[in-house]
Amino acid sequence: MSVLGLVPVGLPDEEVVAALEHGLPEAFGLPVTRLDPLPEPLGALDPGRGQWASAEFLRLLLRSVPPGSKRVLGLTRRDLFVPVLSFVYGQAQLNGPVAVVSLARLDQAFHGLPPDHSVTATRALKEAVHELGHTFGLVHCTDLICPMSLSIDIRQLDAKTARFCATCAILLKESPDMRNEPRTPVPAAGVRP
Ligand SMILES: [Zn+2]
Ligand SMILES: [Zn+2]
Repeated sequence: MSVLGLVPVGLPDEEVVAALEHGLPEAFGLPVTRLDPLPEPLGALDPGRGQWASAEFLRLLLRSVPPGSKRVLGLTRRDLFVPVLSFVYGQAQLNGPVAVVSLARLDQAFHGLPPDHSVTATRALKEAVHELGHTFGLVHCTDLICPMSLSIDIRQLDAKTARFCATCAILLKESPDMRNEPRTPVPAAGVRP
């Protein structure tokens, strides 16, 4: 059976973990298992940018996929980047086992507003569904309320729901790992923001 592993990297955010434990099984129809927190990959910090390289988080998570977990999602409070983008809300291996979500920019406080943890948790769920969707082979969707649509700012993220559109729901169902069929090897799992 496919199992989604949820792993805090660094200090866990309990409210977010609880929201994902509740929301991810609804979105994917798979059980979620909470894993022990991992220490942050300290080499991922770029002192010049003050941000953390998300590829290093994916590498760390790849080394930590426990037997029985088909997918592992890391959660970090750090602000993540990939070299070509100023930031990413998260990153995933397309058809690969790991994904990461950053909570740094999901917090209202980041946008100069009073902190609201339930807003952070709602946003984190949408972003988690998006990144895990990539790990099951889903690509970006043109339906702006589908979680697989690309968000490059918080307004776009807030406009989305955590529920797959009809097309993405069908594609997800047909994903070999959802059908528990042996997967044809993917040459090199690309990474997607
Ligand atoms: Zn969609
Ligand atoms: Zn994406």
